[in-house]
Amino acid sequence: MPTDLRATPPAEPNAATKVRIAAAVVAARDEILDLSHRIHAHPEPAFEEHQAAEGCAAVLAAHGFTVERPAGRLATAIRATRRGGRGGTSPRIGILAEYDALPGLGHGCGHNTMAASGVGAAIALAAIADELPGEIVFLGTPAEERGSGKQFMIDDGLFEGIDAALLYHPCDRNHVDCEPLASVDVGVTFTGLQSHAASDPWKGRNALDAMILLFSSVGLWRQQLRPAARVHGIIQEGGTAANIIPDRTRAWFMIRSDDDADFQAMQDRFRELCAGAALATATTVEVEFSGGSRTMRTNRVLADRWVANAAAYGIIDEGPDASSGSTDMANVSWVCPTIHPDLAIAPSPTPGHSILFRDAAATAVADETTLMAATLVAQTAVDLFADPDRVAAAWAEFRAGS
Ligand SMILES: [Zn+2]
Ligand SMILES: [Zn+2]
Repeated sequence: MPTDLRATPPAEPNAATKVRIAAAVVAARDEILDLSHRIHAHPEPAFEEHQAAEGCAAVLAAHGFTVERPAGRLATAIRATRRGGRGGTSPRIGILAEYDALPGLGHGCGHNTMAASGVGAAIALAAIADELPGEIVFLGTPAEERGSGKQFMIDDGLFEGIDAALLYHPCDRNHVDCEPLASVDVGVTFTGLQSHAASDPWKGRNALDAMILLFSSVGLWRQQLRPAARVHGIIQEGGTAANIIPDRTRAWFMIRSDDDADFQAMQDRFRELCAGAALATATTVEVEFSGGSRTMRTNRVLADRWVANAAAYGIIDEGPDASSGSTDMANVSWVCPTIHPDLAIAPSPTPGHSILFRDAAATAVADETTLMAATLVAQTAVDLFADPDRVAAAWAEFRAGS
């Protein structure tokens, strides 16, 4: 990742403005990186990102943004707005940030760098706000790792009037195109009947047997799944003592597919596997689906600007990422023109959701990538603020694909 934001000429068009964006990011370097480091040091899981949200809100307020916290129904969601000095309401460019961590791991997805870069992009744009039309809209979006917080924010109307949704995600490669799978969380609870596991086990109904059967069924089911389908889970409750027949077990599964019709069929089949395991063990089962995310529609008009702006700094797009998990940013891509570009903070291959990636998210390399991401997000926004026809083209593409 090249680091000299001041010495490298940005991409045309609007290069003179983009020079000032890069300078504004450099000027705010300490604020941006301090935020990244603080969020990394205090990981908060989905829906509990109180310190991260507060930290982002404080920096944005200090740079002239009007901050709503909470925004909508989620306690840790933020909307921060700043109107351009040229007036009008168009365009309204959304700068998005995630800040949730992974339970038991911390920032193994590196969202601290995303939050800091999103704030950095917003305050860099604020530095030239007097010359902008429309509005800069920062959206702090909770619960990407579980629960699809952005869908709640969509349902709360927080994306109404947004002309483009921009963010950056840390990765071990550089690419603008990702192909996330549709995904849903599933909670499975089996209920049986306790009894002494040695003196009278025949009086019990074993909820752990049901859970083991379900995992075995899923393992066999994988033979018949499409190549891009995923189903995986953990046992959260497996009983309380070896000498008690467990009367309650609970698992958390995720079901994913690249195909919407297949995705629905998988959920129906999974329900049947749960019912089968309950039937075989004389237990009962409760299956709860929550937090769905969709497949992604990358907007080419926005993506092309990102690629050009990145290339000016020597960052070459490595092509579509076919192994990008799932994200609720994909839900946003069905609401307005959206991109979900990745930049490397670690050498490839570094697995995501790992201790290795968590540690990479607090290195000097990650810091430089965070500043680069802030610059590129803001420069891509500049290309939209400066050219109503480009915004119209992004919407035309969006509508043609609907
Ligand atoms: Zn992530
Ligand atoms: Zn993640």
